[in-house]
Amino acid sequence: MIIILKQEAPEQKVRALIEEVQGLGMSVNYSAGAEATILGLIGDTSRVDEDKLRANEVVADVRRITEPYKKANRRFHPLDTHVAVAGRTIGEGFFHVMAGPCSVESEAQLCTVAESVKKSGATFLRGGAFKPRTSPYSFQGLEESGLDLLREARRLTGLPIVTEIMGEEQIPEFEDVDILQVGARNMQNFRLLKALGRTKKPVLLKRGLSATIEEWLMSAEYILAGGNENVILCERGIRTFETMIRNNLDISAIPLLKRQSHLPVIVDPSHAAGTAWMVEPLARAAIAAGADGLIVEVHNNPKAALCDGAQSLNPEQFDALMGEVRRRAAFEGKQMQ
Ligand code: PEP
Ligand code: MN
Repeated sequence: MIIILKQEAPEQKVRALIEEVQGLGMSVNYSAGAEATILGLIGDTSRVDEDKLRANEVVADVRRITEPYKKANRRFHPLDTHVAVAGRTIGEGFFHVMAGPCSVESEAQLCTVAESVKKSGATFLRGGAFKPRTSPYSFQGLEESGLDLLREARRLTGLPIVTEIMGEEQIPEFEDVDILQVGARNMQNFRLLKALGRTKKPVLLKRGLSATIEEWLMSAEYILAGGNENVILCERGIRTFETMIRNNLDISAIPLLKRQSHLPVIVDPSHAAGTAWMVEPLARAAIAAGADGLIVEVHNNPKAALCDGAQSLNPEQFDALMGEVRRRAAFEGKQMQ
């Protein structure tokens, strides 16, 4: 439920109204915009008497909103969120490409890929040090030493790093990581989301394998509710009845999220496609649909990759993709940083 306040409502009376609502067991999100000041009521609004609120002299209107996500909702936060990371801005008007291997495999592999994606124009380096694998017998990542290699590649190239965090206990060792990725399999790891909410770290929140958009936004809400506003959504495809592609890239999620929420939206065409040749057409579609960036898997030798080789671009393919991306992002009026 939201309460729209009358313009120039006396501060003291607004405060009294806020206290009255808080007395009913709700918390209040105060949002002063250029055109209207809005109180967002968070909690069980079923006991709120709308007519009584309307009768309050500082209230212009009261609206019940059905969406359970409040802080992620554009209605409470009409302006686009811009997440500042390492001197860059992620959000509407800007375009970023995060590129690198699925998993960090060795110093030579990571540094080669990092230097080549940097040369092609990537703005962030991605790479998994801790890998959530379906099989416990598959390569699980280089773990702590993989994180050290990411730090080294960052020193070498100047590219900020994006890497996946699997549990809340890892937060201290990820302290200097630029963007913490929460993978599809952890989208509803609520303890992790709550713990990330207590930090100020930028979080790239991937959509769960079968998550609805509302469930995904509720996961973002966990982080936002803790006080961390640096949330970036990542559409990476969802599981459907189709077996000829790894995941169905939900292009419609992009405009929908942009309408329903103020959070930046990054698209991962690699995990959707499952094959390298499909990455470029999906990337083009994502840009046209309004994405704020891409996260793309690149490997110096995809055939020998320890994880997700089939969908990884080689450096030449990535360079060609970047030519397309630059043209199309410019056409959409987005600034590449
Ligand atoms: C990844 O980015 O390598 C990854 C594991 O992605 P997802 O969580 O989307 O499957
Ligand atoms: Mn991968």
